[in-house]
Amino acid sequence: MMPRALEVLDATFRRIEQGEIDGIEALDTLLVEELTVRENRRVKTALMMARLTAIKTLAGFDFSFQPSLDRNRILALAELKFIDRAEVVHLLGPPGTGKSHLATALAVEAVKAGRSVAFSTLADIITSLAKAEKDGTLRERIRYLCRASLLVVDEIGYLPVVPGGGNLFFQLVNARYEKGAMILTSNRGFAEWGEVFGDPVVATALLDRLLHHAVVIQIEGSSYRLRQHADLVPEHVRSKALINPPPAPKRRGRPPGRLQTDQDAG
Ligand code: ADP
Ligand code: MG
Repeated sequence: MMPRALEVLDATFRRIEQGEIDGIEALDTLLVEELTVRENRRVKTALMMARLTAIKTLAGFDFSFQPSLDRNRILALAELKFIDRAEVVHLLGPPGTGKSHLATALAVEAVKAGRSVAFSTLADIITSLAKAEKDGTLRERIRYLCRASLLVVDEIGYLPVVPGGGNLFFQLVNARYEKGAMILTSNRGFAEWGEVFGDPVVATALLDRLLHHAVVIQIEGSSYRLRQHADLVPEHVRSKALINPPPAPKRRGRPPGRLQTDQDAG
């Protein structure tokens, strides 16, 4: 029943015999051991269930490397109120600026807090939705992807979306709209979503939902991956890839946070 407590039982008895601790302290030690191991196991299982493979943490993020990023905004997100409010967090920026790292770290915080999390790339989500549609199980698949209280969709914009993929993703986004939180990462500005999804009508409908209750965080810096090789990277690659500002919010909702930055102007 209490495997970890049993494991440390002998050692604990020895400490009582040697007068290091009394019975109450021993009991306390045993329970703390057991609960810590259980908690660690719960977190480990939940991280696996969420398909969080590379574990990144906020503590492991060097904010001084990304001065354009407001540390306090990220730490505020780590309080996870955006999950209760079913908001959408957009992490935008060029490759290597820490978007996936931050999305993963926030997902890890959510798992630790006992929230259900699912993590996937856009390409994998669309593949799974397309397969479900072919099998006649699209509704079930969407319902399943709506169960997690946080869905992280990584890598929007790297790969072209397959025909019909935008439509499938829209059905998922629409099902989660105002019900479940999402974190999206993208290296492309919202103005380019028509191109990313190969369909401006679907892109507009997606952005309509995804910018309504939204927090937009734009990272302007250079790639952490290339930091040691900056001198080898040509200037046009090294210089900050600009992200176009999103279209002005349309019929609904409050403005989605800090959208414009000095860099956007050119
Ligand atoms: P992106 O998703 O924006 O392309 P990643 O989050 O995958 O970039 O970051 C690339 C690599 O660099 C990862 O291993 C990540 O952990 C690391 N990394 C990025 N930014 C930072 C940072 N500011 N501090 C520490 N590690 C970072
Ligand atoms: Mg990434």
